[in-house]
Amino acid sequence: MYRRGDQGWIEVICGPMFSGKSEELIRRVTRSKIARVPVQTFKPALDTRFAKAEVVSHSLLSVTAEPVPDSFTLLKMIDDVTEVVGIDEGQFFDDRIIEVAERLAKSGKQVIVAGLDLDYLGRPFEPIPTLCTRSEYVTKMLAVCHRCGAPAAFTQRIIKSDDLVVLGATDAYEARCRNCYDPEEPEQPRLGMDR
Ligand code: ADP
Ligand code: MG
Ligand code: ZN
Repeated sequence: MYRRGDQGWIEVICGPMFSGKSEELIRRVTRSKIARVPVQTFKPALDTRFAKAEVVSHSLLSVTAEPVPDSFTLLKMIDDVTEVVGIDEGQFFDDRIIEVAERLAKSGKQVIVAGLDLDYLGRPFEPIPTLCTRSEYVTKMLAVCHRCGAPAAFTQRIIKSDDLVVLGATDAYEARCRNCYDPEEPEQPRLGMDR
């Protein structure tokens, strides 16, 4: 028999860079903390030497977070009492994050994953798109197009590099609307609204 509060679920917060995914994750995690619900927040430790133990948004909101090298480690670090599990930069986890999120949800936890749904070439950025299909709630965030101000669903790389991940370089990207987005566009200076 279903009893309210017994059941876990998965929430995905997706969208391009600068769309407020981390802000929204921080907001939800902070509300749980205020309600004294046991929370654990994680982020991928892409570079464990420099990984700071917090999630920070572009607007400089922050929350304590545990850097983890992979999804298996994340699963091992979960406390029994934890009710809410927040995960930022979900696109940088291996595909097993889907199975991990499902196991946590099945054991009654609320799992909130924020991450990019598209890479800089406009291709689905797994595991986020698949995770969306396996989740109860999906929030698609939009940024403001750095070129024209329209709602922006795409992330444009404005420096030259063929690597999927250019680490720690927010200056390397702009949020773009459908009309201004062009992955073929040559390298060009950033028109930041935040600078
Ligand atoms: P994400 O995690 O999706 O990359 P963050 O939550 O870190 O986004 O940052 C969102 C914040 O970034 C906004 O509240 C705003 O202050 C700032 N910002 C900078 N550039 C933009 C932009 N082009 N569109 C929207 N917000 C922007
Ligand atoms: Mg973010
Ligand atoms: Zn635009």
